[in-house]
Amino acid sequence: MQLVPGVYSLGVAKGFASHAFLLDGSDGLTLIDTLFDANAAVIVHQIGAIGRSLADLKHIVLTHAHRSHLGGLATLKRLSGATVYSHAWEADIIAGERAAQQVSWRPQDPIVTYHFQIGNNLNISKHTPCAVDRTVVDSDQVGPLTVVHTPGHTPGHLAFWLPESRILFCGDAVVTSPKFMAGWPGFVLNKRQHAASLRKLAGYPADILAFGHGEPITVDAAARLHGLLASMQT
Ligand SMILES: [Zn+2]
Ligand SMILES: [Zn+2]
Repeated sequence: MQLVPGVYSLGVAKGFASHAFLLDGSDGLTLIDTLFDANAAVIVHQIGAIGRSLADLKHIVLTHAHRSHLGGLATLKRLSGATVYSHAWEADIIAGERAAQQVSWRPQDPIVTYHFQIGNNLNISKHTPCAVDRTVVDSDQVGPLTVVHTPGHTPGHLAFWLPESRILFCGDAVVTSPKFMAGWPGFVLNKRQHAASLRKLAGYPADILAFGHGEPITVDAAARLHGLLASMQT
């Protein structure tokens, strides 16, 4: 699905409606996250469908080091030679040197995500490791994107802001699968940081909100996020 000209939302059922985003710019392609499947077929297909080649993929930015976002990474790196970016805290997990940090063992709403909590904690479904080329911090620029450090879901969780189209890519800080909510509570490692990150995201004048899980919000985006924040504070 094309969100605006040159910005594509790529969703799959696996990884609980995991989503990646492809940005087509004058200086090449930038990809946010890599979906679940190790062969990266959905992303490779989309690059071809817009008349681009894998050599045009210049930047792969990662919101964080959870499995649903890393599936196609190693394949895409090998095929394209793109530069891979993440926050430093996530980089050694992405490189396979450390397991993802444990989340709660307690079942929490939405219960459909519980098997992900177990899978994460037992390190059952591993991604193919891939080295991160560059670590980034808040306010850095990658291609057309501004990095927004939003810890809470994980310590090195990143959102991204695309100012020219006013699209805010929220990663897993906010989801629309299985419903619009401030992330999955069973996965929030630090509630206080997470709440501060949500307030930070709500400060952007977004026309479109895009998420790591579930379909983007394209109508009344900023108001929806403000409403979510208000509902958490009451
Ligand atoms: Zn996650
Ligand atoms: Zn996720």
